Amino acid sequence: MTSLDILAIAAHRDDVEQTCGGTLLKMAQRGYRTGILDLTRGEMGTRGTAQDREREAAEAARILQVAWRGALDIPDGRVENTWENKLKVVRVLREQGPRVVILPYWRGRHPDHYTASTLGYEACFAAGLAKLDCSAAAPAAVVGGVELASLTAGRPQDGQHDAGATPHRPFKIIYATLYYDVRPTFVVEITDQFEARFQSLMAYKTQFSDQEAGKDLFPAQKEIRARVESMARFYGMLGGVEMAEPFLQKEVGLVDDLLMVPVKSI
Ligand SMILES: [Zn+2]
Repeated sequence: MTSLDILAIAAHRDDVEQTCGGTLLKMAQRGYRTGILDLTRGEMGTRGTAQDREREAAEAARILQVAWRGALDIPDGRVENTWENKLKVVRVLREQGPRVVILPYWRGRHPDHYTASTLGYEACFAAGLAKLDCSAAAPAAVVGGVELASLTAGRPQDGQHDAGATPHRPFKIIYATLYYDVRPTFVVEITDQFEARFQSLMAYKTQFSDQEAGKDLFPAQKEIRARVESMARFYGMLGGVEMAEPFLQKEVGLVDDLLMVPVKSI
């Protein structure tokens, strides 16, 4: 079985596109197998139905070249760190076997975002417990990336091959911090991926196209572009590159060769 190298977990469809989509695309371009797990399906959005957002999420997944995209059935606006929800995430972690997991930062304005962080972290831990049985948990619905996945010989298509029976604990957890004003511990350059990343966000047409309904809540495309671009340029500047996405790791950095440490000091 071919596991994912990187899995990004987020509360809502379009979160990943805003916080770490450029990084996911860059890693896919390097040949890594990437995936996205959306905990909810966007039924609380002001505009469009959950079905609209599923189609949009699949399109965004195609643009970001992810090998797998799934969605859980946790209610939108009510992401809670319950045992039941944890088991659902555990099942995905075991089925997809990522080495690196990207979670939202653990503080923020939206309760779904910070709760997704804690829920994701605790699920990563629980997924490694040999005696934990998650086979009764509802599986994620696959919404995108299956075409890419099917190109990989021998890979199960429905993500239900072992119902998450094999324990798996990711090696690394990093936090995407773009939604919160906190100093990142590192940034990933996305200068070459920025355009595609922006297009993946614009794939959510019901949310981001210029239209009347809910106009006060959602700025017009031009405004979003300006905001998204200035954020990318700001974090790029911190890393001495043009555009970047910010991340935080709890662990210290390990250095082997002082002459290879990137980012100029003065
Ligand atoms: Zn969100």
